[in-house]
Amino acid sequence: MTGISGGGWLEGDVAFITGGGSGIGRAVADRYLAEGASVAIFGRGQEKLQEVVDASIAPERMLAIAGDVRDTASLHSAVQRTVEKFGKLDILVPNAGIWDFNRSVTRLGGEELGATFDELFAINVKGYLLTVEAAWRELVKTRGSIVMTLSNASFHTAGGGPIYTASKFASRGLVNQFAYELAPKIRVNGVAVGGMNTDLRGPESLGLKERSIGASFARSEITGNNPLIPLHDASVDPRDFTGSYVLLASRRNSGNITGQIIQADGGIGVRGF
Ligand code: NAD
Repeated sequence: MTGISGGGWLEGDVAFITGGGSGIGRAVADRYLAEGASVAIFGRGQEKLQEVVDASIAPERMLAIAGDVRDTASLHSAVQRTVEKFGKLDILVPNAGIWDFNRSVTRLGGEELGATFDELFAINVKGYLLTVEAAWRELVKTRGSIVMTLSNASFHTAGGGPIYTASKFASRGLVNQFAYELAPKIRVNGVAVGGMNTDLRGPESLGLKERSIGASFARSEITGNNPLIPLHDASVDPRDFTGSYVLLASRRNSGNITGQIIQADGGIGVRGF
C-alpha cells in the first residue's frame, strides 16, 4: 500500500493480545483501539478482563477471553472466537509473562531452580510459541504481523535473574526464527521494553505469584537515577511505551520491516556494555 491516508495507523485492523488485561498489554490494547483497531485481550480472569473492556474507549471493538497461554486448546479457541466476532486477524501481540524477581543462582537450591525454570519458561517462552502456533494461519490470510514484547533482559544483564534473562533471550530468538519462517506473508518484530510500573508478577513456585513489580519497587529503583541508563528520568508509565507497537504493526509504515527489535529501554546499550 502506498500513499498517506487519514485516520488511525491501524484503522480496520484486528489485534489479539495475550496478557492484555494489565500493564503494557492493556496499554497497547487501548492504544490500538485509539488507532482504529478492534482488539481481543486474552489472559487470566474473565471478570478482570471484562472490566478492562468496559473501561475502554470502544467496548464494542473489544473482546475479553480468559485462558492460559500454556494451554494450546484455549489459545486456538480464543483465536477462533476473535475471528468469528471481528472477521479476521491482522496483528498478534505475544506479551503475557512473569518475572523472577532477580532471584540469582546463588539464592536458589536446585529443586527451586528447576521448578521456577519450568514454570517461567512455560509462560514466557512456550506461551509465545503456542500463541504464534494458534494464530499464524489467520495472519497468513491477511498478510498480518506479530509484535512480541521482549525486554531489556533480552540484551543485557541485571534485568532479572538467570531464568528470566534466559527466557527473554529465548524470545529474541523467536523473533528471528519466526521472521525467517513466516516470511513473506507475516512480518515478525519485537519491542524490548525497559523497566515499567506494571503489575508484573513472580512465579508461583517461589511463592511470588501475588507479588507485583509495581508494588515492590519505588519508581527510582526501576529506572530513575540509575547512571547506567542515559534516559534515566524517562516515564515508566506503560502507556508511554506503546508507540513502537503501533509503528511495527502498521502495514502502511512498516510494510518492509521484519526481524527487528526496537529497544525502548532508555538507551541502556549506548555505553556498549
Ligand atoms: P503485567 O503483569 O501487568 O502483565 C502481564 C499479563 O500477563 C498479566 O495480565 C497476567 O495476568 C498475564 N499472564 C501471566 N501469566 C499468564 C498465563 N499463564 N496465561 C495468560 N496470561 C498470563 O506485567 P507487564 O510488565 O505488563 O508484563 C508484560 C510483558 O512485559 C512481560 O512479557 C514482561 O516480561 C515484559 N516486560 C516487563 C517489564 C517491566 O518492568 N514491567 C520490563 C521488560 C519486559
